[in-house]
Amino acid sequence: MSDVEERQIGELTVRIDRLLCVGFGDCIEEAPATFEFDDEGIATFQEMAEEPDESTVMEACRACPVDALTVFDEEGAQIVP
Ligand code: SF4
Repeated sequence: MSDVEERQIGELTVRIDRLLCVGFGDCIEEAPATFEFDDEGIATFQEMAEEPDESTVMEACRACPVDALTVFDEEGAQIVP
C-alpha cells in the first residue's frame, strides 16, 4: 500500500497521508463507510459500495488530530484542514 492514497468523492479529492496517520481512528468513527484500518492499524479507504455523503467525509477529515487527511475542492484548493 502506498504512503499517500487519494480518492475522488463527489466533487472532492480526499488524500490520506499514511505516514502521518497514528491510528486513533477518529475518521473511521465519523465515516465508517469511507475509511477503515489496514492490517497495520493505519487508515485507508474502504471499498465503497455507494458514494458517501460529502459533508460526512469532510467532518471525518476535520476530526483527524494529526492532519493526515486533506480535502481539496473541484478546483484543487485545499479546504481541509
Ligand atoms: S483520524 Fe487521522 S490519525 Fe486517526 S486513523 Fe484517521 S487518518 Fe489516522
